[in-house]
Amino acid sequence: MPPARFTHTFAGNPLDRMGDSRADADWVARQLGHPAARAVSFWKGRPLVDGPERLARLPLPPGAAPERLLFLGLEDGDPLWAIDHEGDDAPGPVERFVELRAAAPGLAPGEAAIAAQARSLFEWRRRHRFCANCGQPSRSIDAGWKRVCPSCAAEHFPRTDPVVIMLALHAGAEGERCLLGRQAAWPAGLFSALAGFVEPGESLEEGCARELKEEAGLETVAVRYHSSQPWPWPSQLMIGLFAEVASDEVEPDAVEIEELRWFARDEARALLEGRHPEASAPPPFAIAHQLIRAWLE
Ligand SMILES: [Zn+2]
Repeated sequence: MPPARFTHTFAGNPLDRMGDSRADADWVARQLGHPAARAVSFWKGRPLVDGPERLARLPLPPGAAPERLLFLGLEDGDPLWAIDHEGDDAPGPVERFVELRAAAPGLAPGEAAIAAQARSLFEWRRRHRFCANCGQPSRSIDAGWKRVCPSCAAEHFPRTDPVVIMLALHAGAEGERCLLGRQAAWPAGLFSALAGFVEPGESLEEGCARELKEEAGLETVAVRYHSSQPWPWPSQLMIGLFAEVASDEVEPDAVEIEELRWFARDEARALLEGRHPEASAPPPFAIAHQLIRAWLE
């Protein structure tokens, strides 16, 4: 079990999303016209910040097109929106529109979560402007949380794509070890937990077992859930698992995996603390780092 207060970067959103009110057009109009309504700004998928820790909150621009607006939720009772700016020219100081992956570790936890929420929704909007059923342009309703097709009346909802990310564990003569792998495209020496998309018609456990079979040739004996993390590139949900496997004999999938390696606890500790002689781990804001840490603890 994760600690009771365990919260990953991009989780722990402090807003009240008011999901049951967003379909009420009168209610949405009141949130738009509210004197205390504010908006966080995005341009090219980048949020506008006030400083390293906080997203900028600006008054809603008058006459903003509904297509580019998203209701995020109530913040201390006041409506908070997001606005997606389009075009090549930054609608403000370009250096304050930050790349979220680089900025996330410095943002206050709730701020990273709000940025992830808006970024995923805007990416979904950008990729789903046309009806997947009939191909006609669709339009945004429910304050940005749904799209409808005026031509065939199909309704389209934001996507969340589940990804299992698992730390395979095996207990042998020298104690329990965890399996990490690396892809050829990664920075030299970087090792992480294995991961893959859950396929349609598959449980999390089955997705985990299939990925370990495909990527490492391992048989999964048992799967245990640890925690999950929203990952807004563009809209993944990383589901962190521990997988007990039957053997430590691995066969790396030559296409995806360059190297697989078992790490004993002392080696894994050195990895997280950045003092391993030749290998490194993902940073603390990645769930892979937290899975290794949880296993060590
Ligand atoms: Zn349609």
